[in-house]
Amino acid sequence: MKAAFLTGIKQMEIRQTRRPEIADPHSVLLRIGVVGVCGSDVHYYTTGRIGSLVVKYPEWTGHECAGTVVATGHEVTRLEAGQRVAVDPLIPCGHCDQCLSGREHTCRNQAFLGCPGQAPGALAEYLVMPEKSCYSIPDSMTMVQAAVIEPLSIGLYAQRMAHLDPGAKIAILGSGPIGLCVLLSSLAACECTVYVTDLLAERLEVARRCGAAWTGNPRETDVIQAIRDIEPYGVDFVFECAGQQETLDQSIELLKPGGTVLMIGIPEIDRVSFDIHTVRRKELQLRSVRRQNQCVAPAIDLVSKGAINVDQLVTHHFSVAETKKAFDLLADYRDGVVKAMVHVTSQP
Ligand SMILES: [Zn+2]
Ligand SMILES: [Zn+2]
Repeated sequence: MKAAFLTGIKQMEIRQTRRPEIADPHSVLLRIGVVGVCGSDVHYYTTGRIGSLVVKYPEWTGHECAGTVVATGHEVTRLEAGQRVAVDPLIPCGHCDQCLSGREHTCRNQAFLGCPGQAPGALAEYLVMPEKSCYSIPDSMTMVQAAVIEPLSIGLYAQRMAHLDPGAKIAILGSGPIGLCVLLSSLAACECTVYVTDLLAERLEVARRCGAAWTGNPRETDVIQAIRDIEPYGVDFVFECAGQQETLDQSIELLKPGGTVLMIGIPEIDRVSFDIHTVRRKELQLRSVRRQNQCVAPAIDLVSKGAINVDQLVTHHFSVAETKKAFDLLADYRDGVVKAMVHVTSQP
């Protein structure tokens, strides 16, 4: 089968490799339809690492995928061949303290698709996954929508972590796919006012179309002052989705006393700092968001009943042979790209 491999910094090849086989009776073999390219995939592509996870070439890549079950292990009970599924790229061990306490996303022995040394990448024609990680999707859902379920589940999880009350004032710093997924999830959850910032005009435009009340570009506007002019008391929650020192500083400035910043963005640097005295005087809460927990099924539900429209995030489509093009486009933030999808095989 064909699969995409990282072969060096900003280098990628489509190579022939052995089609995986079901070894664990609780696993299924999937034929992959669509894979969304994630910011984290692009981090590995451009820098060869995220924190302590370092790529050893050649390395598989990709994790936001959807496909069709083609074979099942003999202990599989929920799925059968022909079923279309959205995939949670996390493979938890199922027996550590974290798994046993319902925190599979921080499993101590986890493997995540396309993470160096952990599990194969989803940018391949076939993939074996535990049945538990596969969620069947309704006929009305497209493969593209199903591949956006993973980032949407992260936005949904972050939003749920915030426990928004109707009337909440929210800032989302960084209007990439995850920031937009937080926006869509928040607006679907309750009536709230959302302020969105980004350095790219096209992404702010998407945010406005998705329902942001206000958008601003810190390169053109003093966004802190502009938001304060409208919200003199500050905002209740900031979702930091850019992973930059600057946006972390802005988060602390923008929050009202007692407010919470949820840190979702992945910094390219290993350490960040913040103004401890402002954090202390305002009694702010800083929380990090590690992917998602138990939000895949609710995300499928919200999309299938029309409460969230993920199609507005998808801006570009590529064939598997053009995978490198998709990564380059995202690495350079060109052409107004928000979510780029790679069509690995053609499927209904
Ligand atoms: Zn992702
Ligand atoms: Zn575990």
